[in-house]
Amino acid sequence: MTTPPIRLLIHGASGRMGQALLRLAAERNDLQVVAAVTRRSPAQRVVDGVPHFAASELHGAPQFDVAIDFSLPEGFDPVLALCVERGAGLVSGTTGISETQRQALIQAATRIPLVWASNFSLGVAVLDELVERAAAALAGWDCDIVESHHVHKQDAPSGTALTLGAAAQKGGAQPHYASLRAGDIVGEHLVQFTGLGERIELTHRATNRDIFARGALFAAVQLNGRAPASYRVRDLLAASAT
Ligand code: NAD
Repeated sequence: MTTPPIRLLIHGASGRMGQALLRLAAERNDLQVVAAVTRRSPAQRVVDGVPHFAASELHGAPQFDVAIDFSLPEGFDPVLALCVERGAGLVSGTTGISETQRQALIQAATRIPLVWASNFSLGVAVLDELVERAAAALAGWDCDIVESHHVHKQDAPSGTALTLGAAAQKGGAQPHYASLRAGDIVGEHLVQFTGLGERIELTHRATNRDIFARGALFAAVQLNGRAPASYRVRDLLAASAT
């Protein structure tokens, strides 16, 4: 007996991430996009076999197993509410959400499985774990996080640098941050631990934005059918390895 594909709703489907998600999901037999949602009314109702909906029509979307949301903070509340209402999982990479929206995520995690992450790269999920371990093992060493991005990026330090800093703090380090904005760099994060006469450098380099879409699809597959809770990408990676 073959397993039916996991039914996905892609929220923010016309954006850069949404388009990457639609393209990569279409290459897989284990996934079926049953709804693509954009802010405004779609120019075409069905594109490559995928039904498209405006955000105002969200409640008309067919039943789905997991929603993947890469939209804007304004679009976040309705898709979270829909997932809770339908008992579906939520994978969200939308950045800039408010403290109130974070609290809503915590509440929703008692009812549905969900993962929110500022960075869905699987490499960064592993780096996060390595940073925490290194910080815990290297008491008293200096910890510096240097992040580099393209010149259009407004926020600094990046959300990912702050997430890595939180991991370092959890391990007992006191991280300092530096940010570089240059050319078209997709994203680089160096976490450096410096002791007396020695130094460890842990670096992640992103060269293609598809890594975030692939990581979100991985999270959706791992989240499907799990108990309600808030998961981290690194939890899902660890679970998939066992
Ligand atoms: P984009 O501007 O290209 O696309 C935004 C999408 O959101 C569009 O499809 C738009 O129609 C939709 N949208 C906007 N307002 C909406 C609303 N009120 N309701 C429903 N849909 C709405 O942006 P992007 O580069 O694709 O990034 C999208 C989000 O993902 C941003 O928050 C970005 O910071 C974040 N992001 C996260 C990661 C990660 O790994 N966590 C990686 C890349 C981007």
